[in-house]
Amino acid sequence: MKLKVIGGGLAGSEAAWQAAERGVEVVLYEMRPSLTTDAHRTDKLAELVCSNSLGSNLPNRASGLLKAELRKLGSLLIDCADASALPAGGALAVDREMFSERVEKKLISHPNITIFRQEIGEIPESPAILATGPLTSQALSEQLKIFTGENHLYFFDAIAPIVDYDSVNFDIAFRADRYVYDKVGEGDYINCPLDKNDYETFLKALITADRFPLREFEIEIEGGVDAGNDTYFQRCQPVEVLASRGDRALTFWPMRPVGLVDPKTGRRPFAVVQLRQDTLAGDLYNLVGFQTNLTFSEQRRVFRMIPGLENAKFERFGQMHRNAFLSSPKMLDANLAFRKRPGLFVAGQLAGTEGYAGNIACGLVAGVNAAHYLLGKPPLQLPVTTMIGALIHYITHANPDDFQPMKAMFGLLPQTDQSQRLKKIERYEYYSQRALTDLAQYLEVNALV
Ligand SMILES: Cc1cc2nc3c(=O)[nH]c(=O)nc-3n(C[C@H](O)[C@H](O)[C@H](O)COP(=O)(O)OP(=O)(O)OC[C@H]3O[C@@H](n4cnc5c(N)ncnc54)[C@H](O)[C@@H]3O)c2cc1C
Repeated sequence: MKLKVIGGGLAGSEAAWQAAERGVEVVLYEMRPSLTTDAHRTDKLAELVCSNSLGSNLPNRASGLLKAELRKLGSLLIDCADASALPAGGALAVDREMFSERVEKKLISHPNITIFRQEIGEIPESPAILATGPLTSQALSEQLKIFTGENHLYFFDAIAPIVDYDSVNFDIAFRADRYVYDKVGEGDYINCPLDKNDYETFLKALITADRFPLREFEIEIEGGVDAGNDTYFQRCQPVEVLASRGDRALTFWPMRPVGLVDPKTGRRPFAVVQLRQDTLAGDLYNLVGFQTNLTFSEQRRVFRMIPGLENAKFERFGQMHRNAFLSSPKMLDANLAFRKRPGLFVAGQLAGTEGYAGNIACGLVAGVNAAHYLLGKPPLQLPVTTMIGALIHYITHANPDDFQPMKAMFGLLPQTDQSQRLKKIERYEYYSQRALTDLAQYLEVNALV
């Protein structure tokens, strides 16, 4: 019994592992390095293309709950992420190279997995999982358009720049984690403080800086970028687009100063740019939330106006990319298979889950379900009170008219009279405990072998 998995990114790697662990013979196709995407930089499986953070690890945060569930379900990628973790406060940030290497090593050494480095340009007739991601190759995209009978929906995403640690000016910048006031000078994050004058000068330069023109395929949707911010990947908007929403927009995110005190003034700065460690060696740091479409020379000019980054050495500039996803509620059943072709599954961003951990979760569910389909077993349908169950339910049942990729959030979980009476933080704790209890009960009844 063979299963083809197309795409060795986050979802495809997890899906291949889950199916192989259940005794299915998996053939995994990854097109890199012979053909690459605009965002990937290596030939490694499970490459993290932008931030090195998989989001919160705290169980009373949506993303933390998602990961707690993934651990209980035996996710390979979360296991590899935990083993490659870097200091990042309550978040799970990883050394990206170490993470991908671990995943690749595990997949290569699995006796049920064969890996081919080649592009698949046709939709397979035999059982398969499509996990080709937001940057699905042109040939397969064309075939998907024909197969689904409607166009992909294109939108945009952007990568944040990375700077050399040694080029940060620590006479101005300071280390601190948000809300940890007794350890200013020691935290995981580097903070570049701006006063009101610095901020206004920076804002003006940012808004008026030159941007890359959009390429033909990126303007495919009506009106392209000028049609409004909805055309961008919702959670990852370019900093210059956020900036143009209002004079103070950046001080709410990503330049919010709350919970930070500049040790040189003893006061909260007017605005802050945060830098987060990007590699285990601690030599590279990314500008948190500074995804951008400015030209490279403008990035150098404008971002060097940030106090502490006057001499910043840019190891990678920010960039903007196409993102593609299917109208899943129209086409997929609750198990992530095409309604019109049982046995053909979709996983990851192409199916409409958002965020690294969300795509890993989607890959896990698709991998288990494809294996169960081949083995004649009932599908994995997690309770909608769990974060993964709610996420998969959403992408397969949402209103298709305005469907957008969805990340883990507590708003997806069903409310009760009891939860509505609770304060926000207590409510989240309640949701989290309920999810983990319901997941444990589900697994007791439905052994995941
Ligand atoms: C530029 C960019 C930045 C992003 N930044 C973040 C971020 O910071 N944080 C976050 O949580 N999420 C981010 N995302 C969203 C998303 O979480 C990631 O894209 C994630 O990697 C998606 O997982 P995936 O498995 O669906 O796709 P991918 O990880 O992209 O994997 C798809 C794989 O399929 C391969 N492939 C494509 N077509 C073919 C084919 N025809 N044949 C064979 N192989 C093929 C690709 O080479 C790739 O390896 C970003 C997305 C983009 C595009």
